[in-house]
This record gives sequence, C-alpha cells and structure tokens, in this order.
Amino acid sequence: MQNNPDTTLVTQTAPITAETHGGRAKCLQRLVRLDLPVPATVALSFDAVHNIASGQLPDIAAILSEFPANALVCVRPSSQDPDWGGPGAVLNIGMNHDRHRELCETLGTQAASKIFLRFVQGYAVHVARLDPDMFDAIDGEGIEALDATLSAYEQETEEPFPEDIGTQLAGVLKSMARAWEGTSARLLRMAKGAPADAGLGLVVQQMALGVGRGECGSGVLQLVNSETGLEQITGRYLRQSQGRDALSPQAESIFITCDPRGASFEELLPECFAQLKSHAALMRARLREEMHVEFTIDNGRLHILDGVRVTRSSRATVRIAVQLARDGIITREEALMRVEPRALNELLHRQIATDAPRDVLGHGIAASPGAATGRLVFSATEAQASAARSEPCILVRRETSPEDIRGMHAAKGVLTERGGITSHAAVIGRGIGLPCVVGISDMRFQIENKTIQASDGRTLREGDVVTIDGTSGQVLMGAPDMHEAALDDAFQELMDWANEASDIGIRANADTPADAQTARNFNAQGIGLCRTEHMFFEPGRLTVMREMIFADSSKDRRASLERLLPMQRDDFTQLFRIMQGQPVCIRLFDPPLHEFLPTSRSGQRELAEALDLPLSTVMRRVDSLMEYNPMLGMRGVRLGVTVPEIYEMQARAIFEATIDASVDGDPVVPEIMIPLVSAKREVELVRGRVDAIATAVRNERGAEFDYRLGVMVETPRAALRAAEIAPYCSFMSFGTNDLTQMTYGLSRDDAGRFMSTYVKQGVFPEDPFHTLDVDGVGELIAIGAGRGRSVSPDLVLSICGEHGGNPESIAFVRQAGFDYVSCSPFRVPVARLAAAQLAINHKTG
Ligand code: PEP
Ligand code: MG
Repeated sequence: MQNNPDTTLVTQTAPITAETHGGRAKCLQRLVRLDLPVPATVALSFDAVHNIASGQLPDIAAILSEFPANALVCVRPSSQDPDWGGPGAVLNIGMNHDRHRELCETLGTQAASKIFLRFVQGYAVHVARLDPDMFDAIDGEGIEALDATLSAYEQETEEPFPEDIGTQLAGVLKSMARAWEGTSARLLRMAKGAPADAGLGLVVQQMALGVGRGECGSGVLQLVNSETGLEQITGRYLRQSQGRDALSPQAESIFITCDPRGASFEELLPECFAQLKSHAALMRARLREEMHVEFTIDNGRLHILDGVRVTRSSRATVRIAVQLARDGIITREEALMRVEPRALNELLHRQIATDAPRDVLGHGIAASPGAATGRLVFSATEAQASAARSEPCILVRRETSPEDIRGMHAAKGVLTERGGITSHAAVIGRGIGLPCVVGISDMRFQIENKTIQASDGRTLREGDVVTIDGTSGQVLMGAPDMHEAALDDAFQELMDWANEASDIGIRANADTPADAQTARNFNAQGIGLCRTEHMFFEPGRLTVMREMIFADSSKDRRASLERLLPMQRDDFTQLFRIMQGQPVCIRLFDPPLHEFLPTSRSGQRELAEALDLPLSTVMRRVDSLMEYNPMLGMRGVRLGVTVPEIYEMQARAIFEATIDASVDGDPVVPEIMIPLVSAKREVELVRGRVDAIATAVRNERGAEFDYRLGVMVETPRAALRAAEIAPYCSFMSFGTNDLTQMTYGLSRDDAGRFMSTYVKQGVFPEDPFHTLDVDGVGELIAIGAGRGRSVSPDLVLSICGEHGGNPESIAFVRQAGFDYVSCSPFRVPVARLAAAQLAINHKTG
C-alpha cells in the first residue's frame, strides 16, 4: 500500500499533501512526524474518493490489512480546507456479533453493546439512509437497546445488518464520497469559499475505543480561549465516551483543568493531562498554529486522534496571530497574512454576540459597521433631546441631510429608508464610527406618523427599542447581547507591523477635529480629504452662511464671508495641530448652495425672521436655487468659478491657519483640492485666485509658507483630459463616489432602491459604490492616471472616495501606481492591513 499514494498509510514519509489528501490527512501526518501517539491511519486521496463516488472502490482488503485483525476503525472527512466541512464521521466500523461477543468478555457487556449500538445507528443513517427518528423510541445503551436497534434496522431495510467489515467499510466510504458530490453539500462548501470542484479525502483510522475497562473516555483541549485568543487551557472530558461526545450539551463532561466548579481531567489523570498539555504545546510550536486537540483515553493510555485549527472570533484571530509571532513561531509577515482585513471591522465596533438570538424586523444595506441599540426617534432634534436625557436612541429618517448631523452625533445608530453605500448617512456614519443601515427594502416608513411597519407586519413606534446591525444590514427587535470593541495591544501591534510592511500610503477622510483625532489614533498618514462644507452646519455658522447666500452683491457676500473666515481659520488650525505636520488635504466647498436652506415652510419662516426679510423673498430665493439635478448642477468648482468669494475666503483661512499652526508646531504644507473639475480652464481660474490670496497673505503676515494645489477627478471628462489638467496641479485625487455615479449615470443616493435586485440578477457583480468597478470606472482611473503622469511624472495620485477603504480597490490602485488611498477613519485599519498584505504578496510572488 505504501506504493499507492491514493490509499496510503499515514507515515512520516508518505506522499500526503493537503491539496491531494486534504487538511486532516496532512495534519495527522504532521502529528506522526512529531511522534505523538496517533492510532494507525490510512489516507484516501481526492482521486480515490472521487472514484469511489463513481463506483470504483479501492482495494478494501489492502486498506484493512494495515490494521490489526479485529480492530475497529472509523472514517472521517479530510477536505483541503477544514473549514469547508464534509460528511459526518462514522465510528466503530467492524462491529458485528462476533466482535460484540469478544468485547463483552474483555470490556463488559455494557461497553460492548454501546459501541455496537453506536455503529448500527451511524451505519443506518449514513449508509442505509434510514430516518434517524426511527430510533427515537429506543431507550438506553445496553443489550436490549442494541437488539431493538438491530431489529428495527432489519425490518426497515429487509436485510440483515452486514457482519463483514469489508462490506461495512465499503458502504461507509461510498456513502461519504457520494454525500460530498451531492448538490447541497457542494453549495454549502461553495458558500464557505470552496471551489465547485473541491476534492474530498477520507481518513480511515484505528479506533481508540474510549469505552471499556479501566479509565476510558474522550475529550478535547486547546491552549487559548476561542473568544478572546488569550492563553487559557479550555476543553472537556467525558468518561466512557467516543469522538466529540464530551462537547454535547447534554453530556456530563468534566472540566479539563482544575476548576473550583467541579471535577477535572487534570485531577483525575494528572500524568495524561501533563502529556496532553505538552503534546498541545508541541503541536502549536511545530504546526505553527493554535490547535484544538481531540484525544481518547483507553484504559489509562492517551491517544491523539486529531488536531484542527482552533475556531476563533475575529478578535481571537488577531491575538493568536500576534502571539504566535511574538513567540517567534511565525514571522510578523505571516501574522499579517493570517488576518482577513474585513474581520478587523468586528474589532473596531460593538457587535451583536455571535450566539445571541436575532428577532429580525427587516433588512437594508449595511452602510456603516457595528451594532447599536436604542429607542426609535424620528428627528434630529428628538435624537439630541434623547441624548440629553442619556437615553440611547436610533435616529430614523427617510434619508439624512447635513441638517441631521448633530442628531446623528447624538444617536447611537442611524436607520434610513432610502440611500446607498455612499449616501449622506452612510458616509457620515462611517466617518464617525456610527452604525448605520440604509436603503431598507422590506419595511414601510411613515416618518410623519412616527411608525415603521416591519416585514412581518409588526408596527414599531417612537420609543420602541430596536437594534441595528450595520455589519449585516439587519434591523432587530429589542436588545441582543453585544461584544464590545477590542482595540487591545495585539491589535495595535498588528497595525504597527502593517505600517512597516505596506508600500502605499493610507490617509483618512476627516472633516472635524474629532475625526482627525480618530485618524491619528489609527495612525493614518495624514488627511486625504477634509470636506469643508460640514463645517458650515454648526448652528452659529448656518445663519451667516444663509446670509451669504441671500446677499445680492459681491460686497455683501464678502461681508458675510468675512464673519465666517475666523471660524474656518480656527477649524483648519485645529486640524493642522492635531495632525502634527502630517499632510492635510482640504477640499474647497463642494455642495449646491440650496442644501443650506430650509425646506419646510416653518424653517423658511424662521429664516425670514432671522434675516428680517419677507417670507416671499425667502421662498423665491429657495425656489430660484432649486435644481432638477443638483448633483450635476451648480456645485464644486462651478460655484468656485461663479461665486469666487467663497473659495477666496477658504483659501485665506487655510493660509492664515498654516502660519498660525506652524508658529508653535510642526511646519504645515497644506494641500488645497478643487472638487468636480471637468475642464482645465476651471483649474486655471481657481489657481490664479488662490495664488493671489497666498501672495496677499504672505505680504500681510510677513511669513513664508508653501502649499500644494490639486484637483479631484470626479467627472469622466476630468479623467479623459487629465493630460491638459495635470500641468496646473501637483496632485490628483480620484473621487470615486462621484466618478462612479457619473460613469454609470446612476444616482448614488437612489441606487439603493434597486441595487440588491441588480446584484441578485447578476447585472452588477457587486454594488459599484461599494467595490470599485475596475472594468469601467477603473479604466477611467487608469486613463486619468496614465495621462496625468505622462505630462507630470511626479504627479501625486490617490483616491478618496469610499472605495479607498476597500481591499480590492486598494489592490487596483496600488497596481496602477497610486501613492495613497484615503478613507473614513474607522476604515483606516482595514486599509492598512489590506495594503500590507498586498505588499507582502508582491514581495513573495
Ligand atoms: C467622491 O465623490 O468620491 C468624494 C470623495 O466626494 P463626496 O463623496 O464628498 O462627493
Ligand atoms: Mg464628490
């Protein structure tokens, strides 16, 4: 058999790989190489199992010849990646009436009958495909139960139970091989990431019985806690048991290590415990992984049956990888490669406990990760009032607008009927780490009546306690248990290693000093996008802003802006100070002006009072600013060109803040970014004015400073004409939110309504606002980058849309030679890890 790699005894040198025989077979070989007490095992390759499924059995007698005569065996699955699962194990193959008689002598009738009974039941269900319920009425595990089970088997199959071990083994192998090739098993493993044609190996292992005379039993042990990843010996042991019986919730298992709550394996068998612990430590060191060890005690002797990777939460994944690297067992680079970047999301935010029951009310787009519980409120003002009463709340809106920002800050989570992954609520939510679900597809919102109808007809009212899960997009009734965020030392250390390994910069999108502080805490390498318009929504500023909008002449406009100038200067000074000399890229004003005007009649009346104007004038002005298509209207640089006073005020505020922050801090070189550019003349005009302001400020203050000017590439035309725009700027930052919107002609605020249908029907592989469309939008980016650099080889390239935090998008822009990505502060760690993995992969080929 040694010469047949398809059915080979597991020895130190047998030709076994995870790719040909599966992860379990390979792991058992490693245990054999470590000289651990592993029972004899034969590994069947993927090819052998595939042949079995097609009716071609291997040489069963040859397999059995590897085991002592009369030994019992078990068969277990061995898929390439143990996470892909496989059919259930079948134990005690070889039991028949003769063996039963013998074992009654050696082990006692009770033990022998228990073993036989278990086999008959396993065989009946897995091989003869009988309904497991048919044995429900049979009580106990003794000889009577065995007889009753055998006669039930014979009645149902109209055949005697097979006595021949070869027939039994062949039956088990066939049933397991076919189960793997079935449609539902295939779909299940594909959902876990397996390829459609993934192979299955099988291992046939001699049973260490765990049942009989002397101390017998089975159990499991691991050296870490699966939830936290911290060092802690955990496990269970069950006397007179087999397989994973000790883990069954009904089992009267004992603790693995000394425990004040009750008996333990450590006290029962101190020597076996010490051996087991040292075997587990050896496995950890040599298999370079935290292992969950399955063992059996047979008449006082320890057998190691199997080792599998410890199952682990995301938090434990990080700690285990870091600890293995700290202990020198794996390299730092390997530790970085072992953590899935998206899993970090679970560490950065509170999450619903994995085992908490979920009473689901409806579903939407998971727009900002983390879970939050609170009472429903339907307006930003109520959210603020609720926060003032220290009552956690969930803010519900049809969609949010800049007016809701203070309410969003006050709420624990935000739920909007409309919207997609780049709608206002989503962008702000991610920016401030606020859980958010948008674009609800199966609940009815009646914001005016303050009710929501759930998908199953339940009605929710103001004050009801709900939980939103911004990681899955679910809306849940009540307050399920939560896991807290886990930004511990292991996380910080992994992030430091990521920084060392990556070769593309990671900046944060940060609009406020609080955002900037978060960005610094996550070690972002600067601010890649500061959306300045959010600064004008502060209560004291909004009125001045509105005055400016209502001004009839440039002179009056300047007067209003004059009052906003010191406030903007303070904003920037704070940002520069927090970022301590790191680059800060400030985007000039972007949104259409009407966003600052009240939409409701009562709001307009208040404004008329505040500005001492007739209501009709206010209404006329609001009307005159309305646009059919505001996102394609008078915004971004178009405002900069037509109402130049706003950009002039902002440029002055930036330069004055630069001087102020550089006096007692690190020197600042601000970056000024022009949004929504589509023509070179726009840049030429704005640049001329900004340069003039810089000269004026230098002269007035008698101080020198540098600055860089760049454009946002958000329109397809800017990408296509990058060669003529590039000479006017030192950097180009691709605003992939608008670029996606304009490339598809798809509103980023409304796409949520049909996005899930589009993705389900395969029109789009994924939501392009979430994962960069590398074919279309990506081609424009590549064209823009290439044309820009063809005339300005030193042009700094970046992206600052929401895609900046997405690992696949980072891979794309890194490949295209970009210098950095910029994303919401809470996505910085995910981006840092993804970037590190790309660099490591690149290095190792
Ligand atoms: C973008 O369009 O990608 C962008 C970053 O700007 P905003 O989301 O503010 O429109
Ligand atoms: Mg934009």
